[in-house]
Amino acid sequence: MIYRQKIKQMLNRLQNAGITDQRVLLAMAKVPRHEYVPTGLEFQAYDEKALPIGFGQTISHPYTVAIMSQLLSVKKGDRILEIGTGSGYQAAVLCAMGAQVFTIEKIGELAKQAERRLKAAQYHFVLRTGDGSLGWHTYAPYDAIIVTAGAPIVPDDLFDQLKNRGRMLIPVGNQNEQILTLYLKEGDHMKEMEIERLNFVPLKGREGW
Ligand code: SAM
Repeated sequence: MIYRQKIKQMLNRLQNAGITDQRVLLAMAKVPRHEYVPTGLEFQAYDEKALPIGFGQTISHPYTVAIMSQLLSVKKGDRILEIGTGSGYQAAVLCAMGAQVFTIEKIGELAKQAERRLKAAQYHFVLRTGDGSLGWHTYAPYDAIIVTAGAPIVPDDLFDQLKNRGRMLIPVGNQNEQILTLYLKEGDHMKEMEIERLNFVPLKGREGW
């Protein structure tokens, strides 16, 4: 496979950057990231950068996907809500880790492309086009929620849709920079941990920008 060397380099880089969860590394070794980028960009797919996927949106850096997947402590069979499907790559990595993924994308054409890729891989997922800033009540509660766009605030609805002991990752801040924040739900209490500064495209919609 022409990408084998590039995949190996990406995995080494991720390990050097502190990704220790073998299930994350295995999933990222298995999911063909080059199939989640536009034609012509395949050879850059494993480099440490975000790439344009059209409509002003991006597929996140490999490190961002890896650290978020690691922080979510995914267990086989977990029900995970993703807000911001984009290319479908993050959803694919979570599916490859054994999760059942519910994912929402605001831009119809991106949703269509991601659905085609995820279906071809025969993953367990449900996808819809729409505003995910209010979460997705239909399938709640979730073991974990991952927001892959930068939010101005943490929408209350998302806390409500999380199971007890559930985990939520959300970048919160302004439109240029956010702090990736991890919430752990313990009964009525939410434990908050600030992880690191990152830069995501803005979360749009009712509870977004
Ligand atoms: N997880 C994606 C991947 O693996 O390619 C990367 C996501 S990209 C950084 C953020 C995505 O969030 C964009 O595709 C954008 O259209 C979407 N988005 C922004 N606001 C949204 C909203 N309110 N509901 C659903 N999707 C939204």
